[in-house]
Amino acid sequence: MTVAPGRSPRSSAELIRAEEPVLAHNYHPLPVVVARAEGAWVEDVEGRRYLDLLAGYSALNFGHRHPALTEAAHRQLDRLTLTSRAFHHDRLAAFAESLAALTGLDMVLPMNTGAEAVESGIKVARKWAYDVKGVAPDRATVVVAADNFHGRTTTVVGFSTDETARAGFGPFTPGFRVVPYNDLAALDAAVDETTAAVLIEPIQGEAGVVIPDDGYLRGVRELTRRAGCLFVADEIQSGLGRTGRTLAVEHEGVVPDLVLLGKALGGGIVPVSAVVGRREVLRVLRPGEHGSTFGGNPLAAAVGSAVVELLGTGEFQRRAEEAGVILREGLSALVGKGVRGFRARGLWAGVDIEPALGTGRDISESLLREGVLVKDTHGSTIRLAPPLTVTDEDLHLALATLEKVLTAAS
Ligand SMILES: *Cc1c(COP(=O)(O)O)cnc(C)c1O
Repeated sequence: MTVAPGRSPRSSAELIRAEEPVLAHNYHPLPVVVARAEGAWVEDVEGRRYLDLLAGYSALNFGHRHPALTEAAHRQLDRLTLTSRAFHHDRLAAFAESLAALTGLDMVLPMNTGAEAVESGIKVARKWAYDVKGVAPDRATVVVAADNFHGRTTTVVGFSTDETARAGFGPFTPGFRVVPYNDLAALDAAVDETTAAVLIEPIQGEAGVVIPDDGYLRGVRELTRRAGCLFVADEIQSGLGRTGRTLAVEHEGVVPDLVLLGKALGGGIVPVSAVVGRREVLRVLRPGEHGSTFGGNPLAAAVGSAVVELLGTGEFQRRAEEAGVILREGLSALVGKGVRGFRARGLWAGVDIEPALGTGRDISESLLREGVLVKDTHGSTIRLAPPLTVTDEDLHLALATLEKVLTAAS
């Protein structure tokens, strides 16, 4: 058999079967084996093309292999990739300066994955509670929202309300209180003198792109200020252009004390995350108290800087807002035709399919067969998060394909 250069000698079916005995079964991927990608399109092992409407859960906000990002990575690969933080390197200052400037905050704590940024935010908030607020030792609490998704570490799943994420992984870290999302009265009741921080997603992604009422984020900001605790916004999925703003909190003109970033910060190339925040808060960390071997490494800093530079022009945020109108109009036209309802902001939508037409998984598999990649969240909800570089034509194609799949299922 002759194989095209760079093409796998094994078929999709063979590769899927080959994973089974050797790969932990912690995911249930759709049956597609991606071999290459560019922009909003991916190609499988057999050369079939698919429009990617998941974009790596927003890790690919700039599309696959954006030339400015791959170029920054290639250049850095040829110069310096890792020093550890035992030494300074020549890319870190510029990365931190530009990220602080982009977010309007003062200081950056670079990490790698989103879950690490969340863990780091929790540690910083606790340290701040003891050192600055004066909470009694080991008494600090963090208030979080029901249906949250903040990652998969033991501490983080400990305050999840998703049984699948929690069950079998205890015992869990104490010190968390869970309140309903989008409920300021419940939040007010849960906050007291032990509260280090309120940690929420400005829009709950995994929960199905749940957008709180207007005024909720402002309310959280006012409440936390009044109570003398920190507002920590997990913008790992909502941030960096997805909603039509650099940060989703900007829709309410709110500035949190700490913002958690990840996913798109690595340009779809390397894991890059960060806690970005006010100097009065982040300065509580002293040498040796927290760290990561790879956090802020030269390759990550080079790619992260290139990401920040792309966002600095505002063009991707504008594009998300503009293309988001097409997405919303298209979805509105499908309400009653297989779509029960949807929530959307910028280029991000949670779409509730009529349960009679199938689960979110069924619809995702039908869309896959028609050349469109999406991911279900819970029940009959699918999530759409195309790259911000998606064209109008591609969006129209995606919406027409969704209509076709829904019609066929009814
Ligand atoms: C994806 C995500 C995380 C976790 O990020 P990982 O890089 O997968 O650890 C945390 N918070 C939110 C809101 C996310 O969407």
